[in-house]
Amino acid sequence: MGKWQTTYATECGHEVHILEEWDRPRFCKECKAANDAKWYDKSCEECGTTIHVCRDWDHEPRVCKTCKAAREAKWYDKSCEHCGKTIRANRDWDHPPKFCDECKREYSPKNADCEHCNSTFTIPMGTQINCKEHGWDLPKKCPECREKFRHKPFKTVREETFLGKTVFRTYNSIGQLISESSDEKTFWTGTDQRRHKSPTGNTIGITRQKERFWTGTPYRETKRPDGSVKSTAEEKTRLLTGQQYTESTGGASGTKHTTTTKTSWWTGKKYRETK
Ligand SMILES: [Zn+2]
Ligand SMILES: [Zn+2]
Ligand SMILES: [Zn+2]
Ligand SMILES: [Zn+2]
Repeated sequence: MGKWQTTYATECGHEVHILEEWDRPRFCKECKAANDAKWYDKSCEECGTTIHVCRDWDHEPRVCKTCKAAREAKWYDKSCEHCGKTIRANRDWDHPPKFCDECKREYSPKNADCEHCNSTFTIPMGTQINCKEHGWDLPKKCPECREKFRHKPFKTVREETFLGKTVFRTYNSIGQLISESSDEKTFWTGTDQRRHKSPTGNTIGITRQKERFWTGTPYRETKRPDGSVKSTAEEKTRLLTGQQYTESTGGASGTKHTTTTKTSWWTGKKYRETK
C-alpha cells in the first residue's frame, strides 16, 4: 500500500489527497464535477460521430473536426478576372465566380435602348467588362440588329409603297430589311430631307444636303434624332475608272464605307450597294 500525501490540483489549485505514485490531478473533486457538467455530447451533423462540446464555447460546433477540415479544403482562392482581387470559391459550386463582388456591382447587367430599332436590350456583365478592358464603347444596337448589320454588303433598292410613294429600302446581304428612307420637306422651312426609319418605324436619322465651308463641295450629313452627326457622305469619282461612288464616314469608329450603283443581273434594276 502506497503512502498518502496532500498536494494541490494543477488547474484549480485546491488541496487534494492522493497516493504518492499518482499524478497530480487537474481538479479537486468539486471542481471536477463542475467542469464535467460543462461538457456535453452531440452528433456531427455530417458523419454522426460524437463530438464533445463545452458550454463555455461561443459557438456550438455543427460538425466534427474531420468534417470541418474536409469542408475547409473545398474552399480555394482565385483572382477576379477583371481587377485581380482575391475571391473565395468552393469546389462544390457548379459555376465558380469570375468576378469579385465589387466588379459584379459595378458591371451589373444593364438595359439600353437600341439606337436602330429602339427596343430595350440587356448588356451582360461580361460584355461590359470586355468593352472596358478593350476601351470599346458599349453596344448601341440590340443583338438582333447587330446580327442583321453583320451581313454585308447592303443593297439599297428604290421601291414604292402601297400609296405610290417612293421609298429607298436597304437590305442586308441575306435579304433582311435594315432600313427604309423617304424624302420629305420640313414642316416650317420646306427644306428637303430624307428620313431613315428602322423596320419598326423608329426614326434613326435625317439626311440633309450641306456644303463644305471652305471648298463649297456638296455633301450629305445624317443626324441622329438627338441631333448628333451619325455619318457624312460625299460623291466621289474613281481616278482610274471614272466610276462614281459615295464615300460615307460614320459610326463611333469613324469607319469609311463606299456605295456604288449596280444593276441586278436578275431583274435589270439598278440598286446601290454599300460595302
Ligand atoms: Zn478545486
Ligand atoms: Zn463528422
Ligand atoms: Zn474585381
Ligand atoms: Zn435593334
